[in-house]
Amino acid sequence: MNFLAMPKIELHCHLDGSLRAETIIDIAQREGIQLPSIDQEELQKELIAPLECESLDEYLKRFSLPNMVMQSKDSLRRITFELFEDAAKENVKYLEVRFAPLLHILKGLSVEEIIQSVIEGMREAENRYEIKGNIILSCMRTMSVDSAYEVVEKGRKFLGKGVVAIDLCASEEEGFCGEFVEPIALAKEYGYRVTIHAGETGIGKNVLEAVELLGAERIGHGVFIKGCAEAYKIVKERQIVLEMCPTSNVQTKAVQHYSEHPIYQFHKDGIKVTINTDNRTVSDTTMAKEIHLVNGEFHLSEEDWRQIYVTSVEASFADQEIKEWCLAQY
Ligand SMILES: [Zn+2]
Repeated sequence: MNFLAMPKIELHCHLDGSLRAETIIDIAQREGIQLPSIDQEELQKELIAPLECESLDEYLKRFSLPNMVMQSKDSLRRITFELFEDAAKENVKYLEVRFAPLLHILKGLSVEEIIQSVIEGMREAENRYEIKGNIILSCMRTMSVDSAYEVVEKGRKFLGKGVVAIDLCASEEEGFCGEFVEPIALAKEYGYRVTIHAGETGIGKNVLEAVELLGAERIGHGVFIKGCAEAYKIVKERQIVLEMCPTSNVQTKAVQHYSEHPIYQFHKDGIKVTINTDNRTVSDTTMAKEIHLVNGEFHLSEEDWRQIYVTSVEASFADQEIKEWCLAQY
């Protein structure tokens, strides 16, 4: 199979983990921002997390540099456009990009301006390429519960106009879901769809709570349901979709090696899985590369790949028209 040419759907991709190194250098020079290096190759080394990270927290350190150049409307628009452009060029037909608006207020942008700029970048790419997209707003669980309310409230007016869902991300503590029940419930009431990062760092029970307490329709990663029978059961019975990101999971030590990744085992057991990059730059990857890696380990059949594509379309937060268009592409 030609993994570059086959149509693909991506549901889990962070904007601030997916910047081109040359763009970081260009924006930094225009805005007078100091970088550790203005040599593209040298800078790349700072941006890419090693395969031997010790933990998720070490992986997350790679995001501070990109965020320095994501503080103006123009740069947010450009970075979003380029991410969609990169995805379109490897035949991604539909992409859901997520980002945390509150990371981009350092130079005075309002949350609304930030969201608007990201939507504009996405629309520009949709007009130029054969790709469709939507935006997921991430709330940082390392920030206060109030900050989650702020994102939910300020993002509300963009619902159905580019924004579709809410997410909780960043460092994963046991039992984090309990704290965020109210803002996520409010988000649901407003019409946001819900996806939650959980079960990425050894705590399968967080997946159970994300489904039961927060009403998660999809789970970011979910690797550790394999060690938590209750979480496994609820994900399987309710057909909660897992957004799996193999390279990222090796980097953060969710699994030690690709061969230990549970994606294929889950798929064969009837759990709904999707394949995603998580972060194109920080994980130094693409959708084609992730699919190639998974196929290299587990030798999926054409029917397996078709099923994963259809699952991804159905689990997307796109409207019916876009879903039908995506299904017609395969
Ligand atoms: Zn993620």
